[in-house]
Amino acid sequence: MIQRFCLQTLMVSVMLGICALCGCTSKPAPSPDWVLVIHGGAGTLDPDASPAELQAYRQSLAAALAAGSAVLSAGGSSVDAVEAAVRVMEDDPGFNAGKGAALTIDGRAELDAAIIDGSTMKAGAVTGVTTVKNPISLARMVKEKTRFILFARDGAERFADEQRVERVDNSWFVTPRRQKMLDEHKAQLQTRSSIDQPSTFGTVGALALDIQGRLAAATSTGGLTGKMFGRIGDSPLIGSGTYANAFVAVSCTGTGEQFIRHAVASTLAARIELKGESVDQAANHMIHNVLNKDDGGLIALDRHGHVAMPYSTVGMYRGVARKERSANPVGHVAIFAEQSPVIILQTPESK
Ligand code: ASP
Repeated sequence: MIQRFCLQTLMVSVMLGICALCGCTSKPAPSPDWVLVIHGGAGTLDPDASPAELQAYRQSLAAALAAGSAVLSAGGSSVDAVEAAVRVMEDDPGFNAGKGAALTIDGRAELDAAIIDGSTMKAGAVTGVTTVKNPISLARMVKEKTRFILFARDGAERFADEQRVERVDNSWFVTPRRQKMLDEHKAQLQTRSSIDQPSTFGTVGALALDIQGRLAAATSTGGLTGKMFGRIGDSPLIGSGTYANAFVAVSCTGTGEQFIRHAVASTLAARIELKGESVDQAANHMIHNVLNKDDGGLIALDRHGHVAMPYSTVGMYRGVARKERSANPVGHVAIFAEQSPVIILQTPESK
C-alpha cells in the first residue's frame, strides 16, 4: 500500500503566510480527508546555519511527512501514521530522538516516548529506555498489549525483551554532535553551578487526523542534554507533553519541567472542550501566556483539521501535510518564520 502511494504529488513549500504553519486558523472550517502534523523540536536552532544544513533538515521533515502521509493516504489509522512519522525522525541523527538523542550527564542515551489514540484514549509510554531502537514502537506495544500506560527503565527493557522490537547497544544512539554538546554543557557546569535554560531541545512529535476522523498523537525524545540519572521529561507523560482526545491532539517540545508543571497538553485540550476556544487560541495561550519565552513550542490539531504550531524559541522544525477532498495532498515544512524554497517530497523507498 505504502509503495503504491505516489508521494511525488506532495508539494512541500516553506513559506510564511501558510495558515497551517503560522498557527492561523481564521479560515472557515476545512473538511480534509486527512491531516498530518509533525515537529522536530524547538531548540538547537542556529539562525546562521548554512543553507545546506537547513535544507537537510527540510528533507528530513519531508521524509517524515511522506511516511505518515503514505499511511493516511492508503486509508490507514492516525495511530499508524504518527508512529510511522516518528520512527523516521527517530532514525534520523539530526533529531533528539532515537539515534542522535541528547545525552545524559553520564554520556548515555535514555529515551522517552508516548503515543495516544484520541478516539479511545488508549495510550502507551516508555521512559528511560536504553536499548530500544525505536521507543515509539515500544510505547505503542504498551498501549496495545498491556492494560497499563507507562513503563519505566528496567521494566520497559524487560517488556521490550518480550516483544519483537529491534534492539541496539546504547553506544549506537551516541553521535559526535551530541557528545560535543554534552562536553560543552559540562564545561559550562564547571563555571556555573547550574544551567538555567537548557538549549538543546529537538524532540520529535506527530499528530494525525485520519479519514475516519480519529485523532492521534506521538512524541519521542532523548530529553535534555546533561539530564540527571532517572530524570523524566514531559514527553512520555500523557497530558503534559503528549495528549489526544476526540477534540484535539497535542505534542510538545521544550523544557519538560515547564510542560509538566502546567500540564500543557491536557490544559490546552480542556480550554478547547470546556471554554470553547479555537485550537489556535488555546495553543497560543499555553505557549505565550502560561509558559515563559524560550520554554519551547507545540503542535496541535483539532478534529476539524485546524492546526496550530506556536513556539517562543527562535524557530521550530515543523511540517504539515493534508489532503482536502478531491485535491492532491499538499505538504509544507518550515524551520524559522522566513520564506524558503519549494521542495518536492520523495517516497521513502525512492530516496
Ligand atoms: N521536552 C523534552 C524534555 O524535556 C525535551 C525536548 O523537547 O527536546 O525531555
